[in-house]
Amino acid sequence: ALIIQRRMKNSARWAKAMEIFNEFEKKCETPIERLNLVADAMLDEMNAGLASENGNQLKMLISYVDNLPTGDEHGLFYALDLGGTNFRVLRVQLGGKEGRVLKQESTEVSIPPQLMIGTSEELFDFIAEALAKFVATESEGFHVSPGRHRELGFTFSFPVKQTSIASGSLIRWTKGFSIDDAVGQDVVAQLTKSMEKKGVDMRVGALVNDTIGTLAGGRYANKDVVAAVILGTGTNAAYVERVSAIPKWKGPLPKSEEMVINMEWGNFRSSHLPLTEYDHQLDIESLNVGEQIFEKKISGMYLGDIVRRVLLKMAEEAAFFGDTVPPKLSVPFVLRTPVMSAMHHDTSPDLKIVGSKLKEILGISNTTLRTRKIVVDLCNIVATRGARLSAAGILGILKKIGRDTVNEAQKQNTVIAMDGGLYEHYTEFRECLKSTIKELLGEEVAETILIELANDGSGLGATLLAASHSQYIDVEP
Ligand code: BGC
Ligand code: MG
Repeated sequence: ALIIQRRMKNSARWAKAMEIFNEFEKKCETPIERLNLVADAMLDEMNAGLASENGNQLKMLISYVDNLPTGDEHGLFYALDLGGTNFRVLRVQLGGKEGRVLKQESTEVSIPPQLMIGTSEELFDFIAEALAKFVATESEGFHVSPGRHRELGFTFSFPVKQTSIASGSLIRWTKGFSIDDAVGQDVVAQLTKSMEKKGVDMRVGALVNDTIGTLAGGRYANKDVVAAVILGTGTNAAYVERVSAIPKWKGPLPKSEEMVINMEWGNFRSSHLPLTEYDHQLDIESLNVGEQIFEKKISGMYLGDIVRRVLLKMAEEAAFFGDTVPPKLSVPFVLRTPVMSAMHHDTSPDLKIVGSKLKEILGISNTTLRTRKIVVDLCNIVATRGARLSAAGILGILKKIGRDTVNEAQKQNTVIAMDGGLYEHYTEFRECLKSTIKELLGEEVAETILIELANDGSGLGATLLAASHSQYIDVEP
């Protein structure tokens, strides 16, 4: 009788867990019609953001980049790439048309978590110090052209209102950064102050978002690059716009008649986006409530945490992991997206990796195979939704620049430079994004849309932009 009772209890629990699971799955659905609505809404918001300066969810930030690299850039340039949990510093010796990148060196420094929520001065001093150390290791093969300064391209991957190619103020933080006193301040001025303090004799020649750097680096490698997308800790996109389509631009008409726009698409939101109670809760408990809604459904910082939240509810309301709720399951962000990805890609018949990750990361042991299968399915639901929404965002850009239909006259490829660990390492996500683009555009058009992984192209891109916007004229030796 006891055994029967236990079986009944177990099957009631399982039924309850499946109810939670099924409801989540249903709410995450992204049928093609919905994705088209998302793309159209994105397009509308892009136009609104280009029309006026204030009050729009898509900031459509003017980058002051009206010329992308040509290949002529030459000299020694440094770059500093800040935007996630690590920052990179690099130096590149550019050799012009013939030489291209003659020599390149870089190093990566992880940012102590307390600095991400401390003061502006602490953060920039830390960065300047690392930069000073790196400059000190400059070796043979690198040389500043006579009569020139060392110059720096600063990739700063947060929304910035630029006032020129080399200045701009932080609009707000995203991705786990929260340093109040930096908001509204000129980031270049802050970096420059810290560089002076640490004895780094360098000038910032270009301040760029990572999307802009990636676009510039991508164009250097391939003339057909017209947009860049980042799918990493955060997400964003940039593309080349005609100045005539930017009513809010009040400056002079550049010779190219073009301007690169940093969309800040992470802040996109729309009633067409699938919304679950878990998304809502994640937002409410985040550092930036009500902001970056698109990003919170798509990017690497959040995907694992959505999975965790569903599992927590199943544990609490359906005893999915047994009589007690595993305590670690309540810790925000313990289930990181790389772990989610590892579980999602587990192809062993008994889902060994899922079992060991659940144990190691969440302290949940002795899971049954059917439980593990559900965990994999959850990862799949969350990754699929993110990838399909990203594809819809890309469709919005393609529509904006008229590359969503086959243009017989042009028949030219449209290349999107892509960067970010989520796209690079999460195979299921990447493949789903690509197949969704095909589904949305049809085979014929999709064949002309190429996504090129530009691994850390934003650093190189920043050096190229610093080079092409260099204020210092070469002095003949
Ligand atoms: C930031 C963008 C950045 C993106 C990718 C977002 O959170 O707002 O400026 O481009 O992350 O790094
Ligand atoms: Mg990056």
